[in-house]
Amino acid sequence: MIKVAVLPGDGIGPEIVDGAMVVINKVAEVFGIDFSFHYGQFGGVAYDASGSPFPEETRKLVLDSDAVFLGSVGGPQWDNLDRTLRPESGLLALRKSLGLYCNLRPVKYYNLLESKVIWKPGYLDGVDIVIFRELTGGAYFGEKGRTDDGAYDTISYTREEIYRLVERGFELAQKRKKVLHSIDKANVLETSRLWREVVAEVNQKYPDVKVEHLYVDNAALQLVINPKQFDVIVTENMFGDILSDQAASIAGSLGMLPSASLGGKVNLYEPSHGSAPDIAGEDKANPIATILSIALMLRFTCSNEHAAQAVEKAVDKVLAAGYATGDIAGPESKIVGTKEMAELIANSIN
Ligand code: NAD
Repeated sequence: MIKVAVLPGDGIGPEIVDGAMVVINKVAEVFGIDFSFHYGQFGGVAYDASGSPFPEETRKLVLDSDAVFLGSVGGPQWDNLDRTLRPESGLLALRKSLGLYCNLRPVKYYNLLESKVIWKPGYLDGVDIVIFRELTGGAYFGEKGRTDDGAYDTISYTREEIYRLVERGFELAQKRKKVLHSIDKANVLETSRLWREVVAEVNQKYPDVKVEHLYVDNAALQLVINPKQFDVIVTENMFGDILSDQAASIAGSLGMLPSASLGGKVNLYEPSHGSAPDIAGEDKANPIATILSIALMLRFTCSNEHAAQAVEKAVDKVLAAGYATGDIAGPESKIVGTKEMAELIANSIN
């Protein structure tokens, strides 16, 4: 029995989660996986109900689960709250309480979304990248402060923090194309020089994986001019934050980007986008990022690669049949809403 804490959250969160639940229930039936789902309040709706975006009851629920499945949080009605009470603070607290040090973001180009990307036709064919971003170290968590006339942030990493993240990248690279790009700024940063040493050390354990080191500035350029060279990328927190958003432009819409945050006993699966208040409640949201996050849960929490691939193939099939939500629709698309898109995908799973 796999116990999943389901936190729909705010804005489009409940709609995309409902859609993904249709898919996961179909997967459970087809592959005989025994799930139990437990809903919790999280984000702005939780603040409204209890005064906290991450109430104690939800904290207990997630810590007592095998996985957390999250919609999205936030919205203008909570923007003026004290920083610690805002829905987004709940998200940071959730990730921290689960000890999730590895953020994994697959970025795939779908030919059918050609009209949605800025590249020339054919340029992105076959692009399929997985980015591993370190999530709990580096500048965002280092000592920071103000001096009389300035401010500082500190980047620090331990060998262990780098090792555990990098090793996950090698594990996946070995199962894919056996190429790993490690991105750093070793020409100026000491933490990056340590990063390279650790990558070389882990490489000895995975000698069949070819490592390419790139400076982050060059990596940003290469992602634009030659994205096909990348397969698996490992990088530190801030570089990963920036590069994963840059790479998102390859997918054609925020609504296509799933994510998994791994490393704790309980892992977290959520779409990469926010709560899209501009389209909330209108059955317009693209549920695919959320549905592909379910595929990641099947892969990483359930260790069921067949089921994960079945979901990914079902998405491919529905897109290939010409169905699209508004954000990914081209001139020939059959436009459907959130609910119908989810049902079409669920019905394509076999
Ligand atoms: P957003 O990702 O919510 O929306 C940006 C644009 O993309 C909007 O036009 C929206 O309509 C569109 N969009 C996003 N997801 C879509 C989907 N699935 N289908 C179709 N279109 C989609 O970012 P934002 O507008 O900057 O932020 C809105 C709220 O979400 C804010 O309160 C922000 O803090 C919060 N946020 C939450 C998360 C999270 O829950 N992990 C992440 C980012 C932002």
